[in-house]
Amino acid sequence: MDFKVAVVAGDGIGPDIVKQAVKVLDTVGDKFGHQFEYNYTLAGGAAIDAVGEPLPEETLQVCKESDSVLLGAVGGPKWDDLGGNQRPEAALLGLRSALGLYANVRPAVLHDALKDACPLKPELLEEGGLDIVVMRELTGGIYFGERGRNEEGETAFDTLVYSKEEVRRIAVAAFDVAMKRNKKVTSVDKHNILESSRLWRSVVEEVAKDYPEIQLNHMYVDNAAMQLVSRPSQFDVILTTNMFGDILSDEASMITGSIGMLPSASIGSSKLGLYEPVHGSAPDIAGQDKANPLATILSVAMMLRYSFNLQKEADAIEEAVTKVLDGGFRTGDILSNGMKLVGTEEMGDLVAKNL
Ligand code: NAD
Repeated sequence: MDFKVAVVAGDGIGPDIVKQAVKVLDTVGDKFGHQFEYNYTLAGGAAIDAVGEPLPEETLQVCKESDSVLLGAVGGPKWDDLGGNQRPEAALLGLRSALGLYANVRPAVLHDALKDACPLKPELLEEGGLDIVVMRELTGGIYFGERGRNEEGETAFDTLVYSKEEVRRIAVAAFDVAMKRNKKVTSVDKHNILESSRLWRSVVEEVAKDYPEIQLNHMYVDNAAMQLVSRPSQFDVILTTNMFGDILSDEASMITGSIGMLPSASIGSSKLGLYEPVHGSAPDIAGQDKANPLATILSVAMMLRYSFNLQKEADAIEEAVTKVLDGGFRTGDILSNGMKLVGTEEMGDLVAKNL
């Protein structure tokens, strides 16, 4: 099959890591008989330098006309003095909203070979390791509600609003993801206090009726925050609101201990998704062959799974990454005693070779 991928390398280590992800994608194409066509386009600081704005209309067009978007990272000290909407990071919010991406998918997987990086006691993971996906609602809730202050500036308010439709579509996305995994969804809310959580829970239960194979449970957010560090193995897919998801996805990913390993996807109702590593543009190591490309390579695996429905190919990338780690190869950020230090380029080559 043929697929069009918009490639936004961005700033800092963005071009270094995206190059490796494209290499891996090309190898997948060769091995499995697919053709990937890349449309390179600018966003973030690179776009500010070229045309004076972080998200040019042309970039949006290229992304909209593609089957998915691969993004490296944006931002850096060079553009730090610019105001809110002019900053490189504004490109991310702009892209997500223009492409209608309302679901943020953040897996947190602890690879056996990297167990030492996990800040939790090893016995807490004995039950079944750590392989969680946090599904965070991305375009609604308290981050997008009405906000303000009274005239004297003595009180301030932020409004938390969810419509049934907003809840329904993120719930459907979460159940669909769970169907491709261990078929368990934990919906996280604050049902005992918030009216919006009561609506949330009733809609989630309604959606669950269409997925009889899925085991659903509900958890209060305060309990979920505790359970993540006390019994993390119980979770498969965590479904939650924008703000709770913001917090819980960072908590879940920090249990893995390695920022250079974490992929993410933002998806919506069409097949078009945005795939990017969780980390930033790491300007301190840009262009030095030091960046860990695995988060970006694993983001490409998510692209194959969620946008292109190529399960075997996605599994192949994840297995190749596991093999490389089991072989003792590490970039500097995940290096430990007795392991072999490799650069960005070599890490990409190793994954491609192990496919
Ligand atoms: P960062 O994630 O870029 O870096 C934090 C630390 O982790 C640095 O020491 C860096 O060297 C290291 N690191 C990050 N990714 C790595 C990788 N793949 N391999 C090896 N080491 C890695 O976060 P920051 O320093 O807070 O932000 C730098 C810039 O990135 C800022 O301009 C920020 O706004 C931007 N940023 C962009 C995104 C994005 O594009 N999605 C996300 C977060 C931050």
